[in-house]
Amino acid sequence: MILKQRTEPITYKIYESLDHRMELSLKEKKKYENQLIGYDGEQQFDSFMSPYQEPLLVLNGLNFSIEGMDFQIDSLVIANGELYLYEVKNHSGHYYYRDNAIYNKGGYRVRNPLGQADRSAELLYNYLLNRGYHLKVHLFVVFIHPDFIFNDLPPHTSYLFPNQLAAHFHNLSNQSRGSNQRDMQLAQEILQLHDEYYRPKNLPVYPFDQLEKGIFCPQCFSKAHTDSRQNRCCPTCGYIESIKSAIKRNIEEYRFLFPNSPLTTNVIYEWCGQIYSRRRIYLVLKENFQSHLKGPCRYYT
Ligand SMILES: [Zn+2]
Repeated sequence: MILKQRTEPITYKIYESLDHRMELSLKEKKKYENQLIGYDGEQQFDSFMSPYQEPLLVLNGLNFSIEGMDFQIDSLVIANGELYLYEVKNHSGHYYYRDNAIYNKGGYRVRNPLGQADRSAELLYNYLLNRGYHLKVHLFVVFIHPDFIFNDLPPHTSYLFPNQLAAHFHNLSNQSRGSNQRDMQLAQEILQLHDEYYRPKNLPVYPFDQLEKGIFCPQCFSKAHTDSRQNRCCPTCGYIESIKSAIKRNIEEYRFLFPNSPLTTNVIYEWCGQIYSRRRIYLVLKENFQSHLKGPCRYYT
């Protein structure tokens, strides 16, 4: 049973939005590409687990901050009172394993994801121990890409590859006695620790006045549109949505790009590219957000 669905990670969403609204540097483009590859790998992992997840408690895409350290867990499974943590990596190509370290084809040593994942497991384990949960934690790094080749890897129980996943989850699911009240309580405890408003500290700088304004098609990211009275149609891909929902979608995008800036009719009017009237913007804000008056100014939350 999935208790927390995977959603697009905030870094991925921010890069996706910025990619259409500003010129990303080469380094930023690479980061965006890595985000795309990473999220794609996580979704593939989900589809491997999906047929077996019913008796398990599954929490996907968790952000934690414990003892001043931020960390993410790609997938967490609770089965028979034990925790299974999965770190999903979507690398492709040839890698080598030597003396507990990973090397790429060029001979450079690359970060072993097991080390970072182990630190996360340790922090979570201690946190839960302080709350009375004495748990066994199993940790796995999943190399999900079919073209990932790991040479000279000795038998290692912590690394999983695509051809092992079905058997792994089949066993886990078969051994599960189904979730009990304590497992549920534990899941709730972990969910409360999850920070849904987490923002990484190394995001690119993107001043409002340097971003391209307007509403982009959610399917093909074109800005072209033809409007009827109520609807907006993308001539590039044919996507149709109500103008109201297009404005609301653009407001949501503004909110996650600028979570600390006040939401006002004027700002959103500009953010939407000044193509819809202030009156129209005001009505969408009024309908979907709480209105506040501060002196002569009105803003929304
Ligand atoms: Zn489109």
